Amino acid sequence: MDYTGYMNEVAKRREPLVIRELFGLQHGAPKDVVFLTAGAPNPETFPIVSGSLKLRDGTTLELTPDKMVDCLQYGPTPGYPPLIEQLKTITETIHTPPRWKDREVLVTTGSQSGLLMALEMMLTPGQTVLVEQPCYTGVLSVVSPYNPKYLPVESDGEGLVPSSLRAALASCSPHNKPKFLYTVPTGSNPSGAVTSEDRRREVYQICRDNDLLILEDDPYFFLHYDGKTPPTSYLSLDEDGRVLRFDSVSKVVSAGLRVGWVTGPRQLVHKMNLHKGSSVISSASMSQVVVSELLRVWGLEGLARHTAQVRQFYQNKRDSMLQAADKYLTGVCEWTVPAGGMFLWLKVLGVRDTWDMVMRRGLEGKVMLVPGHAFMTDPIRPCPYLRASFSATSTPIMHQGMKNLAELIQREKEL
Ligand code: PMP
Repeated sequence: MDYTGYMNEVAKRREPLVIRELFGLQHGAPKDVVFLTAGAPNPETFPIVSGSLKLRDGTTLELTPDKMVDCLQYGPTPGYPPLIEQLKTITETIHTPPRWKDREVLVTTGSQSGLLMALEMMLTPGQTVLVEQPCYTGVLSVVSPYNPKYLPVESDGEGLVPSSLRAALASCSPHNKPKFLYTVPTGSNPSGAVTSEDRRREVYQICRDNDLLILEDDPYFFLHYDGKTPPTSYLSLDEDGRVLRFDSVSKVVSAGLRVGWVTGPRQLVHKMNLHKGSSVISSASMSQVVVSELLRVWGLEGLARHTAQVRQFYQNKRDSMLQAADKYLTGVCEWTVPAGGMFLWLKVLGVRDTWDMVMRRGLEGKVMLVPGHAFMTDPIRPCPYLRASFSATSTPIMHQGMKNLAELIQREKEL
């Protein structure tokens, strides 16, 4: 595929930064070359010399003096080299993408920064943009300032609806065709839906027929609650090289480390790397080293063990939330069982729009949720939905929250 048609004029004009190129050269250069190039600080001035991090299983991650220099120094823009290799191995092992050699991995500062760089590489003002609806707010917040013509694609309990994608494409002007489809296939934020494998295959084929890239935003990949095998990713299906996949350690290791990675066609990832070089220079080295060391001591088996535990933890949380919803919200709201992720998506019966109920009267009613409007492309249409998160709340507090919500809704209907 030729990817230039997907890039906007700004992305096409991005050139490599000479200082970053020289920095990259230094790593593989013969030892007798004297490099007077770096603007890096001298490690002899760093106040921290080593570290040791206690893990939950009782073992310790030692950050030796050499590793600590890596932690405290600038790193190459694409990412800490050992981490990149580990992420490549993980991605290749889990997803077995076709044509792996044509792809590249770039470490991002959480997947949000990867999404931002990808979108800023493609968007132009007024462009038609295909997003699943309801849609992750972090993407709407990047896209909406471009004043796009949104083409929302319906998502239900089984995820993205292929017939809705077809209908959206049929409705768009031939002079303003979308370049990509944005989707969260596993544990959608906010709906919790996991797109079924059949649908994924159909969606991939539709994107192929319409020359669309697929932005596969999959931070909840490990948090799927129906069956043990992870869902087949779009990257796994990607014969053509039309998938940019966004992964993150946020939901299964740590959100504060801000480590994610994007996997995609080399030409596109290269452009994003240039954006990264001029925005953050390199992602935080300390975070990358910590993730890399964790992955090293875990190995692939340890990673699988850890993600299975986290998955079970959130599955239990989900089940508790469903029990609380059954108890207090039956007849008050409708919902489908979230097959992944961290959220229950509630449709409030008898309330046209939930915004004022939550934003004006929620604190007084002792319950706060995210009003559905935050996930919609249309700023005017009333939205009767709410997003309830089950990730960080204990069972008794969940029950209290659902009880308070039922009362809040009842008062709203009496207004
Ligand atoms: N995509 C989705 C669907 C999310 O829910 C989130 C976090 N809420 C992100 C991306 C960003 O995650 P991070 O930057 O922490 O990797």
